[in-house]
Amino acid sequence: MEKILAFGCHPDDVEFMAAGTLALLAERGYEIHIATMTGGEVGSPNLSSEEIKEKRLKEAGRAAAILNGYYHYAGGCDLEVEYNSFYRKAATRIMREVDPLIVLTLPPADYLPDHEQTSLLVRNAAYVAPVPLYDCGTSAPPTRRVPYLSYWNAAGLVDIFGRRLQMQFGIDISSVMEIKRKMLTCHESQREWLAALGVESYLQVMKDWSREQGKLIGREYGEFFMQHLGYGYPDDNILKTIFGERCINLC
Ligand SMILES: [Zn+2]
Repeated sequence: MEKILAFGCHPDDVEFMAAGTLALLAERGYEIHIATMTGGEVGSPNLSSEEIKEKRLKEAGRAAAILNGYYHYAGGCDLEVEYNSFYRKAATRIMREVDPLIVLTLPPADYLPDHEQTSLLVRNAAYVAPVPLYDCGTSAPPTRRVPYLSYWNAAGLVDIFGRRLQMQFGIDISSVMEIKRKMLTCHESQREWLAALGVESYLQVMKDWSREQGKLIGREYGEFFMQHLGYGYPDDNILKTIFGERCINLC
């Protein structure tokens, strides 16, 4: 069965923005892989970096396991992600180890530079993973092809100027909202931390963003994507082919 790779920056990025779509793909028999560039090592007010990282990698693994999926950690650090050789190789290693048909990742414009750099790194990895002479330090062979690549929505559904991103299609995730909630619930260290900071409930924020996207496609809950259509990438809408009426065009 073909594989799907959802590649975020921090543990929980994927669960916020794309877990519903992953759950639908898992239901259709696709093998799900979730990867993060960093280990979430700054995500605690009281634990050491090592302690919180260990905890968060386990949380991410549990979330992927809900879809009988696999979790991969690329080896990077929170707030340090940049477009350099270390991160290019790390992202390409995971791309080769999974060899996905479809890749989902962060949008090129998002609230945090870590997110934007990850978007660029994943886009690059998708393109260079098939190149035989590119050595990224894995025994996995080059990927068989450039995968389909789509970006999920920005946090808060806006870019840094408060503008909506030009998303191309929305997936109706209403039937799997409970699975998405369970996956995000796995990240309990973050829920507790944000609650202590008085931030609006972690789960509620995810629900609100999913509901807002759903409303724009006339469904209860939704997740939006835009497809990378640059030269050399597959350009037909495979999610539309897979999901039919559950995939609604936005433009
Ligand atoms: Zn993040």
